[in-house]
Amino acid sequence: MTRWTVALAAAAFLVVAAPAAALAADGDSRDQADVDAYFDQVAAKLGQPGLYVDPDVTDLDSSEIAALDAATKSADAPMRIAVVPAEQISIGESYYKYLAWNGEEIADQLYDRVGVEGVYAVLVDADSSDDGRGFHAVQRADRGPTYYVGNAVDQAVDCCAPNYDSMLERFIQRAQVVDNPWYIDVAPWAGGIGGIAGLWWGGVTLASRRRRRQDERDHLELVRPMLNEEIIALSQQVSALPTATDERQSTYTKQILDAIEKARQRLDKAKTDANIEAVSTLLGSARYGMVCLEAVRAGKQVPEPTAPCFFDPRHGPSTTSTEWTPEEGAERRVDICAACAARLAANQQPEVRTVRIGDQNHPYWTLGERIAAYVDGYWTAGDQSWMFPDPKLRRIRDGMRDRWAADRPGGRFRNWTTNVGDSLNSMASSSTTYNDDDDSDGGGRSSGGGWSSRTSSSGGGSSSRSSHRSGGRRSF
Ligand SMILES: [Zn+2]
Repeated sequence: MTRWTVALAAAAFLVVAAPAAALAADGDSRDQADVDAYFDQVAAKLGQPGLYVDPDVTDLDSSEIAALDAATKSADAPMRIAVVPAEQISIGESYYKYLAWNGEEIADQLYDRVGVEGVYAVLVDADSSDDGRGFHAVQRADRGPTYYVGNAVDQAVDCCAPNYDSMLERFIQRAQVVDNPWYIDVAPWAGGIGGIAGLWWGGVTLASRRRRRQDERDHLELVRPMLNEEIIALSQQVSALPTATDERQSTYTKQILDAIEKARQRLDKAKTDANIEAVSTLLGSARYGMVCLEAVRAGKQVPEPTAPCFFDPRHGPSTTSTEWTPEEGAERRVDICAACAARLAANQQPEVRTVRIGDQNHPYWTLGERIAAYVDGYWTAGDQSWMFPDPKLRRIRDGMRDRWAADRPGGRFRNWTTNVGDSLNSMASSSTTYNDDDDSDGGGRSSGGGWSSRTSSSGGGSSSRSSHRSGGRRSF
């Protein structure tokens, strides 16, 4: 499972095709200037969102192109897709050709030239992956909603490669699904775990299921009061907020309240680790929402989501990181909040979240298996997650999951272990059906912040690029 790793982004779509015969036959040699000039032309066709297919690409006929172009133009995300022959963006002579750029950079090059934020995708057309065939996309934007572009690339390739028409159709569909930048309802996660785990564990003996249930009950016994207390404290914080003075502020306030309410409902019904994770993710989202709200009030840019403060996730999103050595264990880098950073700078001890067990207070990360789901949830936001800084807890968590997996009879479902991780990831991404908040784009677009244009720059300069919000690259 890739729960402790990350992804976040936005996309554009360009398809490149390589008719090897035409150019290579006479030992034609291309250099970077040729490729740049070609891409300038492609960009010129995509001043407005839509699809451009190089005339040398033969795998799409005119009716397919027209339909895809219409779908691209009507997508919620400002989307530009190019299908280009690998030959046109290759450098070198006959047998020594290589693509001028790799992966997402190909899509970024298109974005650089068009100069407007949005989703950019490039399908590179060739006979095989060895010849450069691939599909690459990126979303660039400083504001506005984040789309599941990386996931859309994966889905397009997994479902349909090498059929360009179905690939692009799938991509256009998926790449406009909003991954709300801060308000992440983890229902899909929880549902995914429940659904897949249900199937999976159906083949497991009752005894091992009992063991796992017992483990999870034990986790809840520790974590439920902690989360309960956090929900109450957060509700009080929110009710103490000044009244919203504009639509954007009230949208944030509403989303924060929704997240807290959902957390409360889920905690009431919680039975499993997945439920615990869902609750702590929601609380992390609510705290991030409060930071966003504060930024909006102050007329500042809304920050990107970050990992929670390591010392106490209740402190909210981290703003910096520092080297830190626990009482037991080696020095490590931890993400921390501004208040904790100030304490450390003043040579004071950080305020660590502790849990009282018996007559002793324990730092939360020393509580082993029982705290793993709580931590996992906090260090996750949507399809993004961060590595928890304490290696010992990570080991314990992985050991627990291995033990649960090993409890399954025989090796018959052995490779489900990895598949489950993948399925969960894709379920986590298919949040449309669970997104019960229609105006959930974080206030970016509806409030007039929206997609901003940037100064056009040709060439490979990346210094003026807007934030990378999401992206993906696949050869096929
Ligand atoms: Zn802190």
